[in-house]
Amino acid sequence: MELLKLQGVVVSEEVERAMLRVPREEFVPPEYRDEAYEDHPLPIPEGQTISAPHMCAIMCEAAEIKRGDSVLEIGTGSGYHAALCAEIVSPTGEPLEGLVVTVEVIAKLARFAKENLKRAGYYDRVHLIVADGSAGAPVRATFDKILVTAAAPRVPPPLLEQLKEGGILVIPVGPRWQQLLVKVKKEKGELVREPVTYCVFVALRGRYGHEE
Ligand code: SAH
Repeated sequence: MELLKLQGVVVSEEVERAMLRVPREEFVPPEYRDEAYEDHPLPIPEGQTISAPHMCAIMCEAAEIKRGDSVLEIGTGSGYHAALCAEIVSPTGEPLEGLVVTVEVIAKLARFAKENLKRAGYYDRVHLIVADGSAGAPVRATFDKILVTAAAPRVPPPLLEQLKEGGILVIPVGPRWQQLLVKVKKEKGELVREPVTYCVFVALRGRYGHEE
């Protein structure tokens, strides 16, 4: 954590607190538990990965996630990042304030995430949906913040529609093996786009994803 702060990755108190509270070891397969606190991605079932802690922090900081926000995450994976968001929008022990909706396309992974979230005590604060999330979650829209944790060939237009005024979308955009993490803010109806960092995510599938 000290290193992530020194590197300027963890800036806000909210993100620091969430990273310290959410037990990452509950979100990795048992054989990787002893590596859970190292700052790199780890394999999870179905050939997917749980992002490195620094990438989760960068995304939460870029999205400026705050207490009380409604957050949509596309790509639940292990459930770890959804738990971090839940810890920020509805801190432990407080009445439920914010909302985290997370969408996973692989049913088996959604079950994995559900078990992890339950064990870690976040399942009551995260609404998990099994579906193609590349077009967002229109039924639940709109959101203050949207995080996409899989690489998209371009920004899916429905996600921009599901963003509230003043809302922020953070998404890795680019080809399969390297992407640019992009922040898009909706300001007075205009979309303001800025690059955050280079990154490598697994491919987004589905309607607005990469071709299979
Ligand atoms: N945020 C996760 C890591 C995400 S890995 C964590 O904290 O562990 C990317 C995930 O996106 C994978 O689980 C993959 O199955 C999922 N995914 C890919 N395309 C998707 C889509 N169209 N809709 C929903 N989930 C998708």
